[in-house]
Amino acid sequence: MSEQRKVSEEAGEVRRFWGRLGLPGLIDVHTHFMPERVLHKVWAYFDTNGPLVGGLEWPITYRKAEEERAALLREFGVRAFTSMLYPHKPGMAGWLNGWAADFARRTPDCLHTATLYPEPDVETYVREAVAAGARVFKAHVQVGAYDPADERLDPAWGVLAEAGTPVVMHCGSGPAPGKHTGPEPVARVLARHPRLRLIVAHMGMPEYEEFLGLAERYNEVRLDTTMAFTDFTEGFMPYPRAALPRFAALGDRILFGSDFPNIPYPYLHQLQALERLGLGEEWLRAVCHDNAAALFTAADPHTCPSPAPSG
Ligand SMILES: [Zn+2]
Repeated sequence: MSEQRKVSEEAGEVRRFWGRLGLPGLIDVHTHFMPERVLHKVWAYFDTNGPLVGGLEWPITYRKAEEERAALLREFGVRAFTSMLYPHKPGMAGWLNGWAADFARRTPDCLHTATLYPEPDVETYVREAVAAGARVFKAHVQVGAYDPADERLDPAWGVLAEAGTPVVMHCGSGPAPGKHTGPEPVARVLARHPRLRLIVAHMGMPEYEEFLGLAERYNEVRLDTTMAFTDFTEGFMPYPRAALPRFAALGDRILFGSDFPNIPYPYLHQLQALERLGLGEEWLRAVCHDNAAALFTAADPHTCPSPAPSG
């Protein structure tokens, strides 16, 4: 089968998935768009099966040009997505934020995304990004190799908590641990900023239960499904079945995320992996669309899709 035909068949199946649920489409809180040069470096890293990806074989399924990738998300019926980008050293976040602001301007279905790093001017550029309309932040504790409870970040978390701007944080120790990954540093951040709208990426893999505990304790903590429950992840960091009832009970704070385009399987598989948990259609509607719609509509009623009439 030709590559083009395979992709449009997959798009049809993705659309049928949310169509069956009676949704107007999907909202994907965890997709990566970044300057091409940076993204190519990320892909080259995945190709090495290096330690940050746990030494795993990790073929990038959607290694395409930027415009094709955005078009494909639209074909899938993704109504809103993000441009998760993140620095690995000081002096880089401001530049990335400038790129992301421009990307959001030319990509109206992308939620304007920004990032941060512990450095002297972090509060200033986080304030500027929020004022410029950033709707979501990304923090990558593993790649950035910083302590999220670093005191230089404290005023920035304060700004984000005050503004109610969600921050997607890769803070679990999967697929490989970093110096400051795991629930403990995040617990220190939340103790100081209990209203921070933290979205724990990848369900906090593999510290699933500890991060679930933080979400149970703090009402503004959410989890994204990114890569969790897929055959790929279940193969080396399976979700503990005993924790599923607790996970199901948090249905209004679980957000669909995919990690597109950097995934070693088709996009559809993430959706099927959620469906086969058997938590029901209402749960799927909330996770795949309604929870994110409510979260981002609350931040700005004018530019985000409104929740679907579900039922
Ligand atoms: Zn990611």
